[in-house]
Amino acid sequence: MDPYARVPGSPAEQHAAAASTTRDSIADVWGPRTPFRGEWPVRVDQRTTWTPERWVQSVCVLCSTGCGLDIGVAGNEIVGVRGRAVDRVNHGRLGPKGLHGWEANASADRLIQPLVRRDGRLQPTSWDAAMSLIADRSKRAIAEFGPGSHAFYNSGQLMLEEYYTLAIVAEAGIGTAHVDGNTRLCTSTASIALIESFGTDGQPGSFTDFDVTDAIFLVGHNIASTQTVLWARVLDRLDGPNPPKLVVVDPRPTQAARRADVHLAPRPGTNLPLLNGLLRILIRQGWIDEDFIRDHTVDFEALVSQTDPWTPEAVERVTGVPSANLEAAAEILGTSPTLVSTCLQGVYQSLQATASAVQVNNLHIIRGLIGKPGATVFQMNGQPTAQNTRECGVNGEFIAFRNWQNPTHVADTAKVWNVEPKTLPTWTPPTHAMQIFQFAESGSVRFLWIIGTNPAVSLPELRRIREILAKEDLFVVVSDAFLTETAQLADVVLPAALWGEKTGTATNADRTVHLAEKAIDPPGEAKSDLEALLDYARRMDFRDRDGAPLVKWSDAEGAFDSWRECSRGRPCDYSGLSYAKLRGGSGIPWPVTDAYPDGKERQYENGVFNTAADYCETYGHDLATGAAITPTEYAARDPKGRAIIKPAEYLPPPEEPDDAFPFLLMTGRVTYHWHTRTKTGRSAALDAAAPAPFVELSQIDAARLGISEGELVEVRSRRGHIVVPAQLTGMEPGVAFVPFHYGDDADGPPTAANRLTLTGWDPVSKQPHFKYAAVSIQRAAAGASAAATDRLTALAGSATGQSAGAPRTAAGARR
Ligand code: SF4
Repeated sequence: MDPYARVPGSPAEQHAAAASTTRDSIADVWGPRTPFRGEWPVRVDQRTTWTPERWVQSVCVLCSTGCGLDIGVAGNEIVGVRGRAVDRVNHGRLGPKGLHGWEANASADRLIQPLVRRDGRLQPTSWDAAMSLIADRSKRAIAEFGPGSHAFYNSGQLMLEEYYTLAIVAEAGIGTAHVDGNTRLCTSTASIALIESFGTDGQPGSFTDFDVTDAIFLVGHNIASTQTVLWARVLDRLDGPNPPKLVVVDPRPTQAARRADVHLAPRPGTNLPLLNGLLRILIRQGWIDEDFIRDHTVDFEALVSQTDPWTPEAVERVTGVPSANLEAAAEILGTSPTLVSTCLQGVYQSLQATASAVQVNNLHIIRGLIGKPGATVFQMNGQPTAQNTRECGVNGEFIAFRNWQNPTHVADTAKVWNVEPKTLPTWTPPTHAMQIFQFAESGSVRFLWIIGTNPAVSLPELRRIREILAKEDLFVVVSDAFLTETAQLADVVLPAALWGEKTGTATNADRTVHLAEKAIDPPGEAKSDLEALLDYARRMDFRDRDGAPLVKWSDAEGAFDSWRECSRGRPCDYSGLSYAKLRGGSGIPWPVTDAYPDGKERQYENGVFNTAADYCETYGHDLATGAAITPTEYAARDPKGRAIIKPAEYLPPPEEPDDAFPFLLMTGRVTYHWHTRTKTGRSAALDAAAPAPFVELSQIDAARLGISEGELVEVRSRRGHIVVPAQLTGMEPGVAFVPFHYGDDADGPPTAANRLTLTGWDPVSKQPHFKYAAVSIQRAAAGASAAATDRLTALAGSATGQSAGAPRTAAGARR
């Protein structure tokens, strides 16, 4: 019998009546204003569909804000969530994704058994058979082709303990450098930009800096859509006493842009000249902290000469931003006593990503606005646990922000894991994701384990990626909760437990560590990725240098305890943290040590940065070319704890609009979805709120092309095309925007944004260019079949309120 059936007067009906929602977060995304009165007031948001029998402490993992929440449980079902009033991140608030996304756990299409490919088809099998096959193929590939035949492509949505176990398995067990996360697509620029300026990864500041700052500078960061609770925090400042000034850089008229004191809308791909122009004004006006520059930085002079040509007129010529607007923005950024700046995908996924992100760091460095209340820069994370991917070294970095080129750092890691240093793959730089797929394409990678991510939707040039995944000589393992586009191409599919079905820790974008307790059992035979990796390690019989099992833990807390030791002495020091300490209260920002037993609000308070040659995470790069600085070169100019000011020269884009492809395309996100919609697409309310892709165009362009609102248009690049409805806004002419969340609709014309994007990446962070491609746009009705037109029009229609039902694409994995 359906336990949710409503029989009048029955316990079920009583429970249903007890279901509660504090607000309709779909219609009212940010909730009622609670202006600051000293502290950010508590506002507990809750949504339940049934009366919880118990509440289990956890954290929302649908964006990098990391809101503390409790999971409501009845029987073995998640029946709701409520924000944790005590939590430092959200003070009880939750956004629409947090309030609804948990419904995915109970989806009828969860994978509940392992699958193996037999006779060309994926067929159910046992865990033992699946893992035996994986271990057998893994051993054979190592024997025939060596450790470099193995690659692991993971996620920004696992738990710290899973990343840490993956690190030891891949690096000390197998000895491969081919380990990267889908965080490459969203956060690799954040980490490298922090490293280039401050010596190591790790956000300098705290979300509490938003509470007291005098000005906020959002650069390519659609905060109102991507981090709704953080935007609610900003709104409560904007609508409270002493509101901060707001400067927004975004080609689109986003919600934040509409609230800005100054909105700068540069042409896509021109962030760097815009920022150079702002820096030039600050320097010329003397809006700099000369004492801080003298005592705490190196290479200021290089910035002066590099920015000098970028007069407001030159900036206007290249970016399209009126010089008066540039000067107005510079005055706010140059004269506000304190300033919080953030960057996100509008910087990271565009051209010269690292070079641009570093200029925002430079702005803070030359003003001495870092390490003080209300004064910091966020190189914001995208995914919820991207910070942990980076900390644990499975995102192309070395573990615990150590330096893979520093023998002492390598030896320190080897000591914790009790292995010989030479077994760790530090003879080569860590391989980045796009290169992993190139190696698989060329046949040098033979074994690829994809965990919690859906590259068959999320990587650029989808057709090529799908062909690689389908190659005969590539053995593909996919761990996921759903049969994604990627899983459908796998040789083995392992059913994964989702958030709420396993215990672990998650660190958000302001270094706050939360404990997420297991609330329910996973469905069927699904297991956590940690369990799968531990099983694999046992079957591979990985050993340490004393012949004992390499991986010495058997559960999440054991992995966390090993990580505490591994991180000791590094910036991300968890040595003073424990599950016991995280239970019951708020999240705690690292470092947590004997000196800082309750964590630390902000780094670099003493003006000493992590740049000393024997401590830094890398030796840095030339920002324009990506050329690595050698250890010898770095040591010769050892910054010894001073922040590094790095200028960068503007380089023209690889593809310019022309007569055939006259528009510049950006891809991005909408408020109601997360990545490829694995979870959010399985919530009826979120799916109904944003059921289908679209292309956003300026009203001016639409009028010129004779395109009306909702009309189907074909967007075509040199790499492919899609057919989607038009959405007309006041965005800049010549620019188009398509959300990337949606795969192709099996029954209609192509709709996946990544059919259009180009294969190219930032030379330093290796982050792909998702926000720059030349496209053409035209009405599609003549070219589309009548059926396809009807279908897409129906989907578009449901965006205006009609019921949408289940996700129409196979949606994505946990990205
Ligand atoms: S802001 Fe992010 S972490 Fe917070 S509830 Fe929304 S999706 Fe979850």
